[in-house]
Amino acid sequence: MPRSHKSLPRLRVEVPLAAMVEVGLGHEQTTYLLTVLRMKAGEAVVLFNGRDGAWLARIADANRKGATLAIEVQLQHQSPRSNLWFGFAPLKTGRLDYLVQKATEMGAGVIQPVITRYTQVSKLRHDKLVANVIEAAEQCEVLSVPTVAPEIGLADLLAGWQQREGLRRLIFCDEAAPVHGPAQQLADLDGLPIGILVGPEGGFSDEERAALLACSFVVPISLGPRILRADTAAVAALAVVQAIIGDWR
Ligand code: SAH
Repeated sequence: MPRSHKSLPRLRVEVPLAAMVEVGLGHEQTTYLLTVLRMKAGEAVVLFNGRDGAWLARIADANRKGATLAIEVQLQHQSPRSNLWFGFAPLKTGRLDYLVQKATEMGAGVIQPVITRYTQVSKLRHDKLVANVIEAAEQCEVLSVPTVAPEIGLADLLAGWQQREGLRRLIFCDEAAPVHGPAQQLADLDGLPIGILVGPEGGFSDEERAALLACSFVVPISLGPRILRADTAAVAALAVVQAIIGDWR
C-alpha cells in the first residue's frame, strides 16, 4: 500500500465494502473522526471489515450525529485470517489490555483466556477485550480482527483440545522447563497448526504442569534463563514462533 495511505485513520466496520457504497457511522466512530481527529468532509479514511480487504473512503457528510463515508477504491485484498491460537491466563486489567493488544499486533488469530489455579482475575469483561483487540487491529493494520473466545478452564481446554483442534500443537511456555533454545523444537512443528499457552503471574501449579506435560499435543518450551512477567512472556513466545515458523518469514 503506498505510504500516502499509511497515515490515514483506519476504521473497522461491519458492513460489506465495495466501490460506490455509502457507509453510515455510529456515534463513537463519528465522534472519533469529526471531534477527536477534527476531520472534515472530503478527507479520507481506510475501512476494513475482516472480509473484503481495505478500502479508501471519503467523508461525504460530516454530520456530527452520524457521519457518512463514500467508498472509492480497494487498497488491499483480504489477507487470510491468522491460524495462530494464543491462550493466556488473564491478568489484572491494565496488563490484560496490554496483553490482548500485543497478541493482536503479533498476529494471533484466536485469543483465548484460560483460567488456571493461580489466575487472579475473577470476572473478565469480554466486551472490553474485544474493544482492545479492535483498536489494536486498526492501529497495526491487520485486516481481520482476532476472535476473542469465551474464557475456559485449563482442564476443560486440555480435555477438549484434540477433538476441537485436531492436529494443532500446544506450545506450553513452561517457566520450569530446562533452559535451552526453543528454535529446534519450533522448527520441528513447521507446517502444523500452532497454539501458544502462557500462564498467570503465579505461574502454573505442579498439577497443571503435570497435566500439560502428559498431553501428547503439548510441546513445552523455555523462554530463557530468566522468569519473565506473563505479558513479557506472551510477546517473547509470539515473537519466536512468528520468526521461526510463523508469518515473519
Ligand atoms: N511462577 C513464577 C513465574 C510466572 S511467569 C512467578 O510466580 O513469578 C508467568 C508465565 O510466563 C509462566 O507461567 C510461563 O507461561 C511464562 N514464562 C515466564 N518465564 C518463562 C520462561 N523463562 N520460560 C518459559 N515460560 C516462561
